Amino acid sequence: MALNLVMLGPPGAGKGTQAERFAREHGIPKVSTGDILREAVHSGSELGRAVKTVMERGELVGDELIIGIVRERLTRPDAMAGFVLDGFPRTAAQAKALDEITATRGPVICVEIQVPDEELVRRVRGRRVCDDCGANADAFGHKADELPELCQNTERCRSIGPKWVARSDDSESVVRERLKIYWRDTRPMIEYYSARPTFRVIDGLQSPEQVREALVAAVASALGMPASQLRTLVAKKLGAQA
Ligand code: AMP
Repeated sequence: MALNLVMLGPPGAGKGTQAERFAREHGIPKVSTGDILREAVHSGSELGRAVKTVMERGELVGDELIIGIVRERLTRPDAMAGFVLDGFPRTAAQAKALDEITATRGPVICVEIQVPDEELVRRVRGRRVCDDCGANADAFGHKADELPELCQNTERCRSIGPKWVARSDDSESVVRERLKIYWRDTRPMIEYYSARPTFRVIDGLQSPEQVREALVAAVASALGMPASQLRTLVAKKLGAQA
């Protein structure tokens, strides 16, 4: 059995931070469609040029494009023992495509982090990312007003000056647009998952550490096993592949 996890919830709920930590602690890749697209924009690739304006407006890029990216990423060998998806699926068509992609790969656990809109706006306005490597400031356990001087994430980040910047789609007006799209297109899709036995909800107003614990407990309960066995699951799967 693989450890397939989908993080659901609005922008600013803490999906990225929690996905990153869960993936690291369990030895599986975090696949964030937002990060993949931001990297493409940063590098000026053809994909980046195609999605830049849409992202800056806070709108969704086309289903076909994003489904192709995720399909390719999830079929790489490192995702065979499991993955943590962050930012995908966001529409009913994407959810359906994910079902197809994972049909033969064991259960997919879906965890929704719930946070009220006003708290999301407050959080997102204070969010910072490293302009150089794209790392989220909060992934390092810091709030925006108490950031370390350097990002420290890559050699390049360690050797140059501070690079923390606000995401271009984190301004208040764009965040409100993203929330509108979330409630219109993405939240109804979550209903599609909510009847499944592997669906769980977490209160995102708790501290990041409490959310982390709740996430591990939710995944373990969805798989019907103690939390301590989750890592063994990945190790066994990787062993069987080798
Ligand atoms: P995120 O970092 O997940 O908030 O994503 C940032 C932006 O990337 C979104 O506002 C969209 O423009 C785009 N994006 C990321 N994931 C998706 C997706 N699954 N479907 C469509 N657009 C996406």
